[in-house]
Parts: sequence; structure tokens; C-alpha cells
Amino acid sequence: MIQISEKCVGCGKCVAACPFGALSLANRKAVVSNACTMCGSCVSVCPMGALSLPVTGAAKKDLSAYKGVWVFVEVGDNGRTQFIRPVGYELLSKGRELANQLGEELCAVLIGNQVEAYFPELSTYGTDKIYAVSSPSYQQYNTLAYANALVTLIKKYNPSIVLFPSTYVGRDLSPRISSELFVGLTADCTGLSIKEGNLIQTRPAFGGNIMADIKCPDYRPQMATVRPNVFKKAVTTPGRMAIIVKETIPVPVEAGKVRVLETHMDPVSTQEKLDEAPVVIAGGRGMKDKAGFDLLDALAARLGGAVGASRAAIDLGLKDKEKQIGQSGVTVSSKLYVACGISGAVQHIVGMEHCDVIVGINKDANAPIFNVCKYGLVGDAKQILPRILEQLKK
Ligand code: FAD
Ligand code: SF4
Ligand code: SF4
Repeated sequence: MIQISEKCVGCGKCVAACPFGALSLANRKAVVSNACTMCGSCVSVCPMGALSLPVTGAAKKDLSAYKGVWVFVEVGDNGRTQFIRPVGYELLSKGRELANQLGEELCAVLIGNQVEAYFPELSTYGTDKIYAVSSPSYQQYNTLAYANALVTLIKKYNPSIVLFPSTYVGRDLSPRISSELFVGLTADCTGLSIKEGNLIQTRPAFGGNIMADIKCPDYRPQMATVRPNVFKKAVTTPGRMAIIVKETIPVPVEAGKVRVLETHMDPVSTQEKLDEAPVVIAGGRGMKDKAGFDLLDALAARLGGAVGASRAAIDLGLKDKEKQIGQSGVTVSSKLYVACGISGAVQHIVGMEHCDVIVGINKDANAPIFNVCKYGLVGDAKQILPRILEQLKK
């Protein structure tokens, strides 16, 4: 919460300035409530300089004490078995590159029950060390328990970077940890690199109209989340075993506030998942109608792929919302991506630019989609697709 010093004379200016209604006057002094988000809006308003934000945690510490690139590796559960979510391997692969540039260690953090089984495979992604918190108390994900375990580890070992998957668990956990440590968090990064010792976190900003490079030069650890399929998996150290550091961290009492009484799993879909398909055929507004999307279905069936769509096509009702590819949909990383009647808005590109081979079909030769295509076909997709299908049949 904002700090109010003795200098306060009760003028009330800060009360009007607080957008969250967190300030009020009592006995001619400003008082703050739990509604304070520490946005800082009131600080400059006070004519007496009576308000200040608390300096806590990692702020302004000796940054050289923070070393190591950490990846929180999520253990998934599909109701039958537990498994490592593939995005964990993708983050370790990217983390290896970052650690090499920094000359630091790459470390995986695993929390769960009997996680030892995953050590050998995690080690093959260039992982130097695995921090493991393994106990039946961590069998089921619990926000408070997991956050407490991670904060305890981070405070003990001082990593310089911590990466989280942008899964339901990663999105729930990472902001809780960053606020506890009083450090920044960049969500849904589409690129990560190192510049002058800082993590450059690239992501769309202002509705996707610009790509912003975000850095946190004064705080450690630097924290980011990344969606599945943004980075490629790369086994770099086959047969090598990472150093294992097992930690025993008791679950805090307050974690008992949340108890999972029942778990309901979505029925397993019979359709190929977009984010796992080796071939994705995507349609945009240019496909116009159901007949246009029938052509995409036919091509996907022939090539063994899945059909996705741009947001404009989803808005036209040509596909269900879960088939949307892009910033506010799914990120795909297929071997082949065919974009039909899609202009190539940046919000779409960030969801498919990591595919191996991208083919664009668009009647506008200047459509931005061609900037990310390996092959481009200029013309009417409704005429081109039947000809491709005909050739494939032959
Ligand atoms: P258009 O931009 O209208 O392009 C249609 C294209 O089809 C044109 O290039 C045209 O030349 C071509 N064409 C027309 N007829 C034919 C034909 N017969 N044959 C061949 N080509 C033809 N969009 C997404 O896709 N995914 C997202 O996740 C997403 N998230 C967003 C989030 C935010 C916050 C915002 C603001 C926008 C988001 N958008 C997203 C929307 C995005 O900005 C674009 O509006 C959208 O991607 C455009 O879809 P489109 O390319 O299908 O349509
Ligand atoms: Fe006190 Fe400053 Fe708020 Fe005035 S603006 S009530 S002096 S804290
Ligand atoms: Fe209100 Fe922001 Fe000041 Fe907190 S820091 S009291 S939320 S204006």
C-alpha cells in the first residue's frame, strides 16, 4: 500500500486523485484502504510530499548477485496420467540460448509429486540444474502453495530471469509471484533476447499495432510468460544429466483455503488439435463463405492437417472461436501453414510466424501476409485451391 508520512496536512487532494477510491480523510489525515493498487497516481499530487511507494524486495539491489535463467516447467494432468507440458521444453530450448548469451546456468523448476521421472528428459534440453519440489502435497496445483514454493526458491537462489508458460497455471502463478517479489512481468512474449545483460521481452502492444521491446534494467528477476508454440524445441545435450537440487518446502497453512473437490475434464476432441497439427490450412475474410471454407477442409483432409481461421473469418461465423489463430487465439507452429484470403495483420502474424513453411494465397500482391511467406500465390483462392486439390488427387 502507499505510505503516508507525518507531513500530511489533510488537504484531501490525494483523495480526489485516487482512481481506486483507496484514500479518505480521517481526523484530518489521509488514510489508505486495501483497495490501493500502488498505481502511484497520488504521489505527485500531494503538495507536502507526504506520499511514497514502498521500496521492497528485489528493487535496486546489486544486480550482479542475480544469476541463472529459470524455466518453470509445468506438470500437466489429463485426468489419467501426468506429463510435462510441451511448452516447458520450448522454454528450456529458448532459455538455453539466453543462458549462453549471458554465460549463466539454465535451470528447470519442477513442482509436483514424484517428479523425479522427468529429470532425464528435461536434462536433454541443455538444462544445467533442476530444482525439484516433490511431495504428495503438491500433487494437485494450488496457487498459494505453488507460489510460496517458487518465491522461496527465487529468494534463496536469486535467478536473473524466470520464464513461465502462458498456460492457465502459468498465467495464474506468474503475476502472484511478480507482485510478491515486486518485480515486473511481461505476458505473452513473442520474442526473447539479451541486450547489454538485460532480457528484451518482445510482445504486441497498443492493440497489436506495434511490437514493443520491454526491459527491466533495475529489477531482478526479470519475468515473462510465453504461449505454447512460440519457440521451437531443441534437444541439445542428449544423454546428459542435469544437477538435481531437491528442496523440501512445507505447504503454507493458508493454501488450505482452497480445496479441489472435483475435477471435470473436457471430453477428448476427435478433431486434430490446431496447435499440434503438422499442417494448418487457415482461411480469412477473403474465403467469404462456407463454400470457401469447404475448400480448406478438403485440402486439410488431403494433407492430414487442421483448419484454422483469422478473426475476421471467425466474426463472420465461418469457424468456431477456438479455431482462431493469432494474438487473441491459438499460436501454431506447424511444418506447413497455408494462409488463404488472409491479409496478414500483425495480430494474426504473431500466431503463425513460427511455422516452418508458410504459403500465402491472396489476390492482392501487396498483402502483408507475403512478408512472412516462403511461397506466395497471387490470385483468387477459390480458383487456385480446386486446382491444387486436383493436382494432389493425381
Ligand atoms: P482482411 O484483413 O479483411 O483480409 C482479407 C484478405 O483476403 C485481403 O488481403 C484480400 O486481398 C484477400 N482476399 C479477398 N478475396 C480473396 C480471394 N477471393 N482470394 C484470395 N484472397 C482474397 N486477427 C486474427 O486473425 N487473430 C487474432 O488473434 C486477432 N487478435 C486481435 C486482437 C486485437 C486486440 C485486435 C485489435 C485485432 C485482432 N485481430 C486478430 C484482427 C486483425 O487486426 C485483423 O482485423 C484480422 O486478422 C483480419 O482478418 P483477415 O485477414 O481475414 O481479413
Ligand atoms: Fe495528506 Fe498529501 Fe493527501 Fe493532502 S495530498 S491529504 S497532504 S497525503
Ligand atoms: Fe490510490 Fe494509486 Fe495512491 Fe494507492 S497509489 S492510494 S491506488 S492513487
